[in-house]
This record gives sequence, structure tokens and C-alpha cells, in this order.
Amino acid sequence: MHELALIQELCALAQAAAEQQGATRITQLWLQVGDRCGVDADALRLAFAVVQEQHCWRQTHLNLELVPTQCRCHRCQQPYRPEDVVALCPHCGGLECDRLTGQELTLMAVEVA
Ligand SMILES: [Zn+2]
Repeated sequence: MHELALIQELCALAQAAAEQQGATRITQLWLQVGDRCGVDADALRLAFAVVQEQHCWRQTHLNLELVPTQCRCHRCQQPYRPEDVVALCPHCGGLECDRLTGQELTLMAVEVA
């Protein structure tokens, strides 16, 4: 389960940030999870429950913000939400696009006490 390794890494980042501020406890974490980032939000929650077995994380609340995939078509420059893995533009049928969002897994904020 690679979500466990990911969440452990994110928790380590959060902890380092908290320590830099002289905080002793992390009360809340905010993560942005893109729907195409390859990580399942439910699996992340489960993985976090494993992390919470360690005493220092027991009081921490995990907030997940799910970010839908958005593309912008190269040909007509319109943004759209791809329906499938192949992201055909619904406006002009264009094949090439930039992914604007949906692939992020980002630690957005850490609340400390
Ligand atoms: Zn297009």
C-alpha cells in the first residue's frame, strides 16, 4: 500500500515544519488530492489511521480536499473536464491538452498548537 509510505512522508514534512515553528503538536493537516494523482482518498484516510496509532498523531485531524482533473485544449484553448484517460476536447475534438489540475498531492497547510 503506497499510500502509507506517502502519508508517512507527508507527516514527516508536516512535523519538520511544526518543529521549525517550535510547535509541539499538530492539530490539523490539509491535503489536496487530485483525482488523477494515482492515490485514492479513502486509502489515504486508512493509511492515516495507521499513522495515528503513534501517540503524537492521535489528536490530528486530516482534511482532504479532492481536486477534479481539468485540462486546457491546445487547439481551442478551452478548459474542460476529461471524461476518461484519453482526454479528448469536447469542444473541438483536439487531442493535445495541458493538465491544469488533478495530479496534485500537496500538503497545503498545517495547524499547530
Ligand atoms: Zn479544443
